[in-house]
Amino acid sequence: MRRLRNVKIVATLGPASGDYETIRALFDAGADVFRLNMSHGSHNETAARHAIIRKIEKETGRPIAILADLQGPKLRVGTFENETEELQEGQTFRFDLDETPGNGERVNLPHKEIFDALEPGVSLLVNDGKIRMRVLDCGRDFAECSVENGGTISNRKGVNVPDVVLPLAALTQKDRKDLEFACQLGVDWLALSFVQRPEDVEEARSRAAGRAFIISKIEKPAAVIAFDDILATSDGIMVARGDLGVELPVQNVPPIQKRLVRACRAAAKPVIVATQMLESMIDSPMPTRAEVSDVAAAIYEGVDAVMLSAESAAGSYPVQAVTTMNNVAMEVESDPTYRQIIESSRAGRKETVADAIVSAAREIAETTQIKAICCFSESGTTALLTARERPHVPIIALTSRIGTSRRLDLSWGMHCVTVSDVDRFKMAVVNAIRVARSDGFASETDQIVVTAGIPFNRPGSTNILRVAHCDERLIFSSDPE
Ligand code: PGA
Ligand code: MN
Repeated sequence: MRRLRNVKIVATLGPASGDYETIRALFDAGADVFRLNMSHGSHNETAARHAIIRKIEKETGRPIAILADLQGPKLRVGTFENETEELQEGQTFRFDLDETPGNGERVNLPHKEIFDALEPGVSLLVNDGKIRMRVLDCGRDFAECSVENGGTISNRKGVNVPDVVLPLAALTQKDRKDLEFACQLGVDWLALSFVQRPEDVEEARSRAAGRAFIISKIEKPAAVIAFDDILATSDGIMVARGDLGVELPVQNVPPIQKRLVRACRAAAKPVIVATQMLESMIDSPMPTRAEVSDVAAAIYEGVDAVMLSAESAAGSYPVQAVTTMNNVAMEVESDPTYRQIIESSRAGRKETVADAIVSAAREIAETTQIKAICCFSESGTTALLTARERPHVPIIALTSRIGTSRRLDLSWGMHCVTVSDVDRFKMAVVNAIRVARSDGFASETDQIVVTAGIPFNRPGSTNILRVAHCDERLIFSSDPE
C-alpha cells in the first residue's frame, strides 16, 4: 500500500476520533501521523489510542508515527462565581493569587512567576487574544489592568503574555510526567509547547533519552527570535499558528511561516504547518475556499506535513477533513507550477559525500525514467537528506529499525519500509527491488536508484549509488556480490 502524494497529513485524535473504526477510517482516508494531545485526555485514553494505532500499523504493514504533544506552560485563569463574565472596554480588571472564585472585577491567576515578570505597560491577552488588557500597576501577587478590548472571560480561559520572556521552564511538572508516560508507551515524536529557548529543547531531549525525537512548537515571539538555535537543537518544527497569532499580530504569521519552512527545508528537518487549516470543517462538511487555499499554499511551499487539530479531534467531520487535505495535496502536487516552486526553493547542498550522493540520485531521477530512490538509512539521516532534495520520484526509506521508519514517516515524500538486516550490497539491491515492486512503485521492466553506505549499519556512511533494473535475475546473474 502506498500514498500517491509527498506531503504528509497529521491528524489529532480526540473525543471525535478515539475509537478503532474512526482511527482506521482516518488512516485509510490519508492520515499518516497521529497526534495525541496531552492537554486533553487521560493517560488511559492516550494509552488506548496508542494501542489502536499500533494495531492498525500491524494490520496494514505501514509504519505510523505517533506524536505526543505536551501542553507546556499554558497560563490559565481560575474559575468564576458565575462561570462567565463580560468585560467592557475601559474598565479595570485585576488578576491575583487569591483562589476565591472571580467576578466582573477580578480573578485568580495561579502562576506566581508571572507576577514577578510583569511590568506596567505590558499586554495581557485572554481567551485566544479576544480580550486585550494592559497592566497599569502590579506587585508580587497582583496585576491591575485596563481592558482595551472587551469580551467574554470564563472558567480556566488561557492567558498569553507576549511581551515578556517568562521565567518558566518549557516543561511543567505535568509535562515531565506526561513525557515519561509517552516515552514508556513508545511514541515516536514529542512536541514541546511554548518553547522559548534552546535549553527548553535540551531538557526534553535528555529526559526522552533517545526514546523519542523532539519537535519544537514555535508559538512565542521569543522562539521566533531564537529560532536558528532552537532549530539546531530540535529534530523537527511545528509552526503553531494558533498561539503564534495570539502572541504576535496575525499578519506577522504568514511571513514567519515562510521563513521557518525555508530554514527547516535547508536543515533537512521536518516542518509541520498547524492550526485552523480547515477550521470551518469542525461544523461543516465543506471547507471554505480560503482554507483550501491555505492548505494548498503550505503544500506549494514544500512543507513536510499539514495538520488537523480540532477538525479531526473534536469536529463532526474528522474523516472528511482528512479526505479534503488529501484531495488538495493530490491536486497541488500534480500542478506543473508546484514543481517549479519546489525546484526554485531547493536549499544548497553541503560539501559532504552524502550530500553529493543524494543530489546525484535526484539528478539521475530527473534525467532518466527511474521510478524511485531507494535509500538504506539506519539512523535516518541520509533519508532526510534525500527528502531535502524534494525529488520528483518517491523516496523509499529502507531500514532495519522500526523506530527510524516511524520517525521518517513524518517527512516529505517518504515511504518507509522496515527490512531485515542486510550485510551485502547485492542483497540490499535485491531487497530494494522487491519492496519497490511489491509496494507498487515499479514493475519488472523499470529501473530504480539505490543508495547505501558500505560497510552497512554505520550511520552517516552513505557512499554508494546504483541504478538497478527491477528484474532480480539480472542482479543475480551480473553482480559479483
Ligand atoms: P495547540 O498548538 O493546538 O497545542 O495550542 C498549536 C497552536 O498553538 O497553533
Ligand atoms: Mn499552541
